[in-house]
Amino acid sequence: MNADTLSSAAQLRLLELQAADTFLAQQDHRRKTLPELAAIAQREERASAVHNDIVDTETRISDVAGEQRRLENEVEAVRTRAARDEQRLQLGGLPAKDLAGLQHELTTLARRQSTLEDELLEVMEQREQADTSLTQLISQRTVLESEQAELGASRDAVFAEIDAASAERGAQRESIAAELPEDLLALYERAREHGGGVGAAMLRHRRCEGCRIELSGSELASVRRAGPDEVVRCDNCRRVLVRTAESGL
Ligand SMILES: [Zn+2]
Repeated sequence: MNADTLSSAAQLRLLELQAADTFLAQQDHRRKTLPELAAIAQREERASAVHNDIVDTETRISDVAGEQRRLENEVEAVRTRAARDEQRLQLGGLPAKDLAGLQHELTTLARRQSTLEDELLEVMEQREQADTSLTQLISQRTVLESEQAELGASRDAVFAEIDAASAERGAQRESIAAELPEDLLALYERAREHGGGVGAAMLRHRRCEGCRIELSGSELASVRRAGPDEVVRCDNCRRVLVRTAESGL
């Protein structure tokens, strides 16, 4: 199996190193898959859509306001002209032909004013609808911003917790690693890389805890033959196999 030697106490430390590495990997996974991250991303997307809608609505309001001013000015011009015509009528003394022309113009102006006022009403309704939309969008934005702030604070609190736990466990890991011989560490790291994060496993009730496969009779015999200081590996998964009182040998 393997001829490298290491005291059985040091082999047990390898299990502690593995436990620390597993913990660190779990914390890293937790950091990356925090539900707050997905919730924040989702709200960012919605906030961006709401922002675009706000810009569009503000543009529409500005366009409608311009249209409203134009119509108001036009109504004002028509009114002024009609008032002037009325004045001329009241002054009297106009030739019959001019009088008929003036009366015709007044009728036309009245019709024009009525059309313009209808258009103005319609534009004012559009303006009101756009204002209502804008108010709703701004309130959506406010809700999203406050949700973002809450989620961000929650995320930061969990991150701080993870970072503190990882820093503490990481320091423990380093001190364990410092005790172990370099070639064993290298072996462990290689096995860990190929073994989905697990490089050392306990032999428990004749089963490798790394791959969960029970050792065959000949494998067990080989492990039994190996001295306590000998580093053995699982024939199946190649992880370092650490023997304890529970190994069932
Ligand atoms: Zn195995």
